[in-house]
Amino acid sequence: MAVPKRRTSKKVKNQRRTHKNLHVPGMVECPNCGEMMKPHHVCKECGQYKGEEVVEK
Ligand SMILES: [Zn+2]
Repeated sequence: MAVPKRRTSKKVKNQRRTHKNLHVPGMVECPNCGEMMKPHHVCKECGQYKGEEVVEK
């Protein structure tokens, strides 16, 4: 049976799976205010969609 030659260092071990929970799937950052929002929806923070104000804030 294969056995690891070297013990995995704490650093390498802690670097595993760090990229998994960085962002919620199905959410994008608003290009205007940077708030997380659903794609193809009007941003609920600034009321903008595609660079135009759709909802009054
Ligand atoms: Zn916004």
